[in-house]
Amino acid sequence: MNAQTRPIAPFDVQRVRADFPLLARQVHGKPLVYFDNANTSQKPRQVIEAVDRHYREHNANVARAVHQLGEEATAAYEGARDRLAGLLHAASRDEVVLTSGTTQSINLVAYSFALPKLQPGDAILTTVMEHHANIVPWQLVAARSGATVKAAPIDERGELIVEKYLAMLTPEVKLACVAHVSNVLGTVNPVQEIARECRRRGIPLLVDGSQAVPHRPVDVQALGCDFYAITGHKMLAPTGTGALWAKREHLQAMPPFFGGGEMIREVRFDGTTFAEPPHKFEAGTPNIAGFAGIGVAIDYYASLGFEALHAWEQELMRYALERIEEIPGVRIFGTAQEREPVISFLLDGAQATDLATLLDLEGVAVRSGHHCAHPLMQFFGVPATLRASLAFYNTREEVDAFIAALLKARKLLR
Ligand code: PLP
Repeated sequence: MNAQTRPIAPFDVQRVRADFPLLARQVHGKPLVYFDNANTSQKPRQVIEAVDRHYREHNANVARAVHQLGEEATAAYEGARDRLAGLLHAASRDEVVLTSGTTQSINLVAYSFALPKLQPGDAILTTVMEHHANIVPWQLVAARSGATVKAAPIDERGELIVEKYLAMLTPEVKLACVAHVSNVLGTVNPVQEIARECRRRGIPLLVDGSQAVPHRPVDVQALGCDFYAITGHKMLAPTGTGALWAKREHLQAMPPFFGGGEMIREVRFDGTTFAEPPHKFEAGTPNIAGFAGIGVAIDYYASLGFEALHAWEQELMRYALERIEEIPGVRIFGTAQEREPVISFLLDGAQATDLATLLDLEGVAVRSGHHCAHPLMQFFGVPATLRASLAFYNTREEVDAFIAALLKARKLLR
């Protein structure tokens, strides 16, 4: 074993990789190098088997049937809520609304929490580095209410200018929003500090945690925010799963967003009453098999331990950054002090999409484009970047293969 292949942290990446069947496949005759983890993660066999087992052995609807299968399906679904409450360190499982992902979680807050409060002249504060999911819902409810959306600026390093964000927390701001981790730059935002200042001013804070939960432990009580939105498919779980954590007082006060089955106490034509939160926000049949999977995904993270996983990812990110920085004519977007392993960059004279297409031919999957972050692209003055996003199951050898493919692609494009 040489220095390149020796584990660089106490983390057995080869053992972990064996749990991810898809990582063993070839693409265009080359071993797959999957560096599109910020887009969606791959799934360990434990999660795949849990979904399979659900349909083979437990399939039934939740909370509707008293038969054994119904109880088993409900146990898997409610078990996911328990695991999510544990993952986020929620004070209570009733603070966790199960959703289809971050987009639904944020829209729930937009329509159920923000819209009823907003008046003409009010504002919602977000930032320039947000995913569209943390911009567009605010624009939609602002347009309906006469409120405006303000965006706090970032600097050239891709860090939020925190003093400016705090200065923008003026009395007309009825809700403040921020990503915990940027999906383009990897920047980790100082959520605890922002939450403290929001509390001082009596402004609720929503945190988009989509890119944080796959990489680091999250404690919503220690962070001190009001809402925390996450999506399952970026954290080893099936697509169409996610959660909104919210303080109990907010969930109690919020009207339902979707109406239908499962969210009611009694339906009458002279007045329907609703279930208690979180069920009040969970109308209709959910992605039960997906939630069976998310519970197992959270158990999988727990079996690895975030400390070891994070140390490995950080080592790998530093190595990837070093190797990318060696390439003449490279421009890296985002050099924040504290960051997660998401690396956006461009090479002189090459279009991001052309590079991504050529990388794909070498078996390397990266994302090119605006990454659902138009305002951020506008800030950097580029239409698109190439984004390599790493996960704990990636290796140094994969970084080397990625760099070799990149150099080959650049040569072809010159
Ligand atoms: N927020 C961030 C920071 C993201 O990276 C993403 C997905 O790329 C989303 C929100 C939207 O997540 P979903 O499409 O799973 O709802």
